[in-house]
Amino acid sequence: MTLNYPWLANIWSKWQFGLEHGTFSSATLLISEPGLGTEQLVNLFSSAVMCGNYASEACGVCHSCQLMQARNHPDFHLVKPEKEGKTITVEQIRTCNRLAHESSQLSGKRLFIIDPVESMTESAANALLKTLEESTKTCVFLLITYKCHQVLPTVMSRCQRWQVPKPSSQVMLEWLSKEVSSTLPSFVAHINDNAPLATLSFLEREQGDKYHQIEREFFDCIKLNGDITSLAKLLSSSHEEYLKWVWYLLTDAQKVYFGLDEAYFTPGAKVLAGCLSYEKLYQQSDSLSRLTEQLKEYTGLNSELLILNWLTKFNEEVCS
Ligand SMILES: [Zn+2]
Repeated sequence: MTLNYPWLANIWSKWQFGLEHGTFSSATLLISEPGLGTEQLVNLFSSAVMCGNYASEACGVCHSCQLMQARNHPDFHLVKPEKEGKTITVEQIRTCNRLAHESSQLSGKRLFIIDPVESMTESAANALLKTLEESTKTCVFLLITYKCHQVLPTVMSRCQRWQVPKPSSQVMLEWLSKEVSSTLPSFVAHINDNAPLATLSFLEREQGDKYHQIEREFFDCIKLNGDITSLAKLLSSSHEEYLKWVWYLLTDAQKVYFGLDEAYFTPGAKVLAGCLSYEKLYQQSDSLSRLTEQLKEYTGLNSELLILNWLTKFNEEVCS
């Protein structure tokens, strides 16, 4: 197994040093953003910890490594929500605690990965605290979070914290140019939060045309000759991604008012700034942020209806 993402090389070599010298913390919190390839770091770490021959990398041939490759190692425990978007329950953590107090099946280390840690219910988090404090060199906990602000301080304070670094634009563009043959429009990394894997996925799915379609239909709507019902339907079909694009368009247009004109701005930003006042852009990007948070938090909501509501109010504001 090799590391394919150059921006992770530094953190991985520090982790390897810790594993090699026995100084790696037995309770670690890994803080990341989506789209940085963090899974690969976690996989490398897990294989290294479980390997029976080496301390800081997997030999690939020992019994432990073979069990890890078969995803069948009795001392490796991945704790995650049973369904995406659900919680990690207190029962799951109690099972963890029990296993942490037993001796390992293969007389090596036991590893517990909790992913993502913010999915734990409060009682699950409380159940974990004592075990985290008592974890030993042979019983390792790696907690992963993509929403650091939601992790309980009591959990946070018991862990050594590491932040997955974001690549610089240059490192990311160099990496992307090796991965894709097409040229990269400058706004693409920007609307993907400068996250390399998300940007790559955007290019592979050829989402550029979709972006331009959304921008075009959005302009039609604010000029009051578009079909907001069809735009709401389109936006809700992949709302997490598409609403983010619209949010970037609105916030870039606000920056135009501050005299900024960056090459990576969304293509329609300048035109939009010419159509709407700064106050309206600010209000609408703000209410869009709230809508996005709401949709993320409550997965059962009717996104199409809520987006339609937002667009309708947007138009009323434009006309008023
Ligand atoms: Zn091995």
